[in-house]
This record gives sequence, structure tokens and C-alpha cells, in this order.
Amino acid sequence: MFNLLEILNLKTYYYQGNAVIRAVDDITLAIRKGEVIGIAGESGCGKTTLALSILRILPRNARIVGGKILFRGTNLLSLTEEEMMRIRQRHISIIFQGPSPQSLNPLMFSGIQVAEAIEYHLGKDMSRAIRMAKELFEEVELGASYLITLPHELSAGMLQRVKIAMALSTRPELIIADEPLVGLNTTIQAVLMDLLMRLKRKYGVSLMYLSHNLARMAEIADRVAIMYAGKILEIGPTKDIFERPIHPYTKGLIGALPRIKKIREQRRRGLIWVPGNPPSPSNPPKGCRFHPRCPIAKEICKTQEPPRVRIGESIAYCHFAEEIKDTSPYDFWAPFLFK
Ligand code: SF4
Repeated sequence: MFNLLEILNLKTYYYQGNAVIRAVDDITLAIRKGEVIGIAGESGCGKTTLALSILRILPRNARIVGGKILFRGTNLLSLTEEEMMRIRQRHISIIFQGPSPQSLNPLMFSGIQVAEAIEYHLGKDMSRAIRMAKELFEEVELGASYLITLPHELSAGMLQRVKIAMALSTRPELIIADEPLVGLNTTIQAVLMDLLMRLKRKYGVSLMYLSHNLARMAEIADRVAIMYAGKILEIGPTKDIFERPIHPYTKGLIGALPRIKKIREQRRRGLIWVPGNPPSPSNPPKGCRFHPRCPIAKEICKTQEPPRVRIGESIAYCHFAEEIKDTSPYDFWAPFLFK
């Protein structure tokens, strides 16, 4: 599988008065053709800014100050706005957070909005576009009768189906889904996730799935990147991230997850957690951004950025990755939590 999208040393900052918020700070990441990559992290860690940077739809007070975003080898940051528009229209779609009728035109029938997107982006005539919208509504398991419903008449789950249909309408190569299931009940989340994955396989698109929900990510992602305070701390195959996490933060997140297979052991020993809070993005700590919360932080962690350490197929950014790579999440965190 070749790299469809390569993000190299990307830096996106927000400017608020005198403050500079380093929302994305030197991120390198590749998305392969046809893969699902999960970007996991607490809210405010920079996931959404990363997504908006790829599409160059950042708010006015944000600027990409460094790096490259290569899509099929072309640097999106060097394209004109018109060329970038074509990328958004034909190659990369986004499904925004949660179901909100505001993300669609409230005065226009949902199906007509999808048909208009097809007409505009794919250059089909309106009658063909309506036929294609009907097919898409059937694909997302909304009957054709829903073509003529206004967004406020739809339930939260139905709205997300319309947004999935809209995202697929231009036959993109990459879909970025930013917390698409937030605000929906768990049954609908499972049904929509199933649907999204089925359509992803059918159309062969790559999916970049941004979420704070690690458990959901385990079910769908081929690889997972863990983000924290504008940085990626670890990236690797999903199985390795869940079975052999390397970075102390990843160990903390994984150890905090209730696991069916380990339920007895977890009941006996208790779950672990990561104490403390993420740093202020306008004033992140020097060196390793995780050092104020890391129980094994040394002097070097406070002054020097951690190196990129490759272990197997994973990459972790930690000065002591080699030393701690084989320690289980519980054995790593418990001595500090249960003293
Ligand atoms: Fe902890 Fe240091 Fe590794 Fe950061 S670099 S995670 S502070 S050990």
C-alpha cells in the first residue's frame, strides 16, 4: 500500500492576542491507501486542527507555520485556493463532529443537498445527480423517501447517515471523520460504525478517524496514533498499541480501559489512570510535553525533545522507550498510583 497522504513536520498555530497556541506542533504521519488510521487523544490535543490543516479550512486566527502535507506526492500547502477547492471537492471529504442539523442547509431537502453536491463536484446533470443521491441514501440505509426531508425532521442518527452520504457523494479517496459518533447512543454508534466501515471497504477509501474513544478505535483502525498537547507520542499497528504500548501516556490510556479478556484480573487489581491534566497549549512544557505527568521523568525529559524511537512497527517519542517497552501498563503505573 502506498502513502496516499504524508504529513511532514506540520506546525499549525493559533494567534490570540499575544498568545500563540501550538495546536499542532511538528507532526509527521502517513496515511496509506485503503487504510483506517485512528487519531486518538483527549479533546484539545490538536486532532481537529490537524484535520482542518489537511483541508486548509482553518479559522482566521490559525496559520500553518511549517511542514508539508503531501497528497499523492503534491504538497497541498503550495496549491492555490482554486486547486485546493478541487482537492476538497473530489479527493478528500470530511465528516464533522456529531450530528447537528446546522451542518446542512436547514431550508433545503436533505437529498437535494446531496444531489447538488454531486451535480457541482462530479459535473452530472441534475436528474442523474438525483438518481445517484437516491442510490447513496439507499447505501446509507435511508429510504428514498428521506430525500425530501428537511434536516430538522431527521433524528441524530439519520443526520449522520446523510452526512456520510454527503461525504461519499464525490467519490473521495480519503474521508476524515472527526468524532462522527459523539452525541449518539451506543447502539446507533455501533450501527453507524458498521455502515461506515462497509462503505469504506466497498469504495476503497482511506479513513482518518479522529476520536477520544480508544475502545471504538480498536474495532476499526489498522493503525493508531496517540496525540497529546499538539504532538504525536506514539503510532503503531492497532494490535501493538493495545497489546504492547510503549509510551507512558499510551500505557496509561490502555491500562485505564476495561477489557473483557482481562476483566477478572482488572477487578482484582483495579484500573490504572494517568493523574494530572494536559498542559496549557499556549504554554507547553519544554522537552517532553508529557514530563509533568510522567512518573519516570528525568532531567533530560525536561530540557530535550524526545527522540523518535522505532520499536518493531511502532514509533514512540520517549527518551526511555527502549527501557520501558516491555513493561505492561499495570506494572508501569501501579507502583506510582498505589504506593
Ligand atoms: Fe516520560 Fe521522559 Fe519518556 Fe517523556 S520522554 S514520556 S517524560 S520518560
